[in-house]
Amino acid sequence: MVWRASVLTIFPEMFPGPLGSSLAGKALASGLWSLEISDIRDFASDKHRSVDDTPAGGGAGMVMKPDVLARAIDATASDTRPRLLLSPRGLPLTQARVEALCGGPGAILVCGRFEGIDERVIAARSLEEVSIGDYVLSGGEIAAMALIDACVRLLPGVMGAPHSAAEESFAEGLLEYPQYTRPQLWEGRPIPEILLSGDHAKIAAWRRAAAERLTRERRPDLWTAFLQRFRGGSRDT
Ligand code: SAM
Repeated sequence: MVWRASVLTIFPEMFPGPLGSSLAGKALASGLWSLEISDIRDFASDKHRSVDDTPAGGGAGMVMKPDVLARAIDATASDTRPRLLLSPRGLPLTQARVEALCGGPGAILVCGRFEGIDERVIAARSLEEVSIGDYVLSGGEIAAMALIDACVRLLPGVMGAPHSAAEESFAEGLLEYPQYTRPQLWEGRPIPEILLSGDHAKIAAWRRAAAERLTRERRPDLWTAFLQRFRGGSRDT
């Protein structure tokens, strides 16, 4: 069974978009994963194909209608895949969650628009809200693409070197160490000598120290979690 992504959107023409290029696109073309797009407007019941209405209680903008969205979900989601609603109110997406999703059968992704979707359909169809960060996009499509891209690149056979994911940012709870390539001297800046030494143990130690320093400096939240998880909180920060 290939990993299956089903996306519910009022902008089906946005897909596959960037998911049709590069690693994800090649993997899609070679059948390592599948993408189904459902146009929520196909489930509207009026001749204008309306998917939204004014907010109860008043206020700006429009709200996606529960009946139309529920019909779209029911026509797509007859299996055990997690049903995710892209939403700034959701738990932030993490690499650990991406790995868990990637290890499963796929995901059903509901893209909100306007001011969001009627609260009742979230409960009635057991949608789990997932955020891709503390900022507001104009719709869930780009968030869905980000989530799918993060999952697909971890599928077996998608990335070139099998160890690439293991050494990346977040894999061990740390940000990745700095990377360099030729030329050896560029605009007066040399590649750190140790990386040219051929001493693999020393290179690994340098990379580890650099990863720890970057994480400590840039992401105190990750650093604290790393210390608690891997070192029992014993190391001074
Ligand atoms: N009124 C909503 C609020 O304040 O939370 C924002 C609605 S936003 C303009 C429209 C849609 O974009 C949302 O329903 C959601 O699907 C998507 N969206 C916006 N920001 C997002 C984020 N950070 N992560 C995931 N989805 C997001």
